Amino acid sequence: MSSELDNSLGDDTLAVRAGFERSSMQEHSEPIVTTSSFTFNSAAEAAARFSGDDEGLVYSRFTNPTVQVFEKRLAAMEKSESCIATASGMAAINLLFMGTMRSGEHIVCTRNMFGSTVNQIKNFLPRFGIEVSWANSFDSDEWASLITDKTRYLYLESPTNPLTEVADVKALAEVAHSAGVKLVVDNCFCTPALQKPILYGADIVIHSATKYLDGQGRCVGGAVAGSAELIAELTSYMRSVGPCMSPFNAWVFLKGLETLSLRMHQHSRNASVLAEWLDSHPAVERVHFPGLPSHPQHELAKVQQKAPGGILSFDLKGGKEAAWKTIDGTRLCSITANLGDARTTITHNATTTHGRISAEDRAASGITEGLVRLSVGLEDVDDIQKDLDTALSSVGS
Ligand SMILES: *Cc1c(COP(=O)(O)O)cnc(C)c1O
Repeated sequence: MSSELDNSLGDDTLAVRAGFERSSMQEHSEPIVTTSSFTFNSAAEAAARFSGDDEGLVYSRFTNPTVQVFEKRLAAMEKSESCIATASGMAAINLLFMGTMRSGEHIVCTRNMFGSTVNQIKNFLPRFGIEVSWANSFDSDEWASLITDKTRYLYLESPTNPLTEVADVKALAEVAHSAGVKLVVDNCFCTPALQKPILYGADIVIHSATKYLDGQGRCVGGAVAGSAELIAELTSYMRSVGPCMSPFNAWVFLKGLETLSLRMHQHSRNASVLAEWLDSHPAVERVHFPGLPSHPQHELAKVQQKAPGGILSFDLKGGKEAAWKTIDGTRLCSITANLGDARTTITHNATTTHGRISAEDRAASGITEGLVRLSVGLEDVDDIQKDLDTALSSVGS
């Protein structure tokens, strides 16, 4: 199978075949190439590789054959020109900002994001003179009003973590482009199996491969997808800074991509069943899930996403005490901050993933003390429901 695979092939075909070229061994499945460096036939060839005149392999911090297959496959799935793999999702975000921005430049982002993303943007970027404005909603006019002549990126997650708010990617891409700014979307929650932000006008897609791309909670990794020009700029930064993906992890993620679509649809089906059930549970104040007709962007999600995704969160009437009791009352669900796993995970965001952002910022982003997030897994949905039912029965209403 050639890496020149026609990228207009169907999504499921690309997910299992894109990016892979057999070696002279004619192996059927992608090998893991565990070598830190590569050799050259001559001093002249070495010089040409280092100068970039010859595009061959040099060193696995620059790139590695297994990592390249992952990069090409994810690019094909996201409909981007190119992609670069990183050591983690946070490294992908950092690579984009530090690899392309200058002191004095500015970004606009949503408050409702993964906690470490908020921390990186709020606590570390300003040290390097990068300024940040926070939007309180996904309202296009608000985002437009925050853009300055120093703005480089509009940055968002959709659906957001943990409240599953859905951004109108097309509308925000128009806002960005009319100001000469690029739109960045963290596509961790939907993955390209359910949503391709680039088709709606986004310029750059961020991934934490740790989540659904792996899907089985084994490895940490990330990626940035975008134009060939952007990825070349990031590749040059990667060479000098080094947050690269290991070949083993790239191979695990490749195996994950092959089943991604099947898994994402099953996660979505299970989450839909639980969201509807929780929505009528007496102990529950409110359920946040794009698949529910009561979700404020339900109609938008139906257009922009192929399915609602596997993440939902719910507010308990009894606040933090009820949230902790519910979590402690489960037997099947795993208590962990990770998400996007075959196993259902349950999280109290206010004291874990979002525990290190200030109480003020948490309140501004709507993360209450009574909020519980579920990353709905691939178990029998009846079993997850029974587990939650037992846990919730200890809470009362
Ligand atoms: C987990 C996560 C990240 C960070 O990814 P890591 O691989 O854990 O570094 C970024 N964005 C979102 C939406 C996440 O859920």
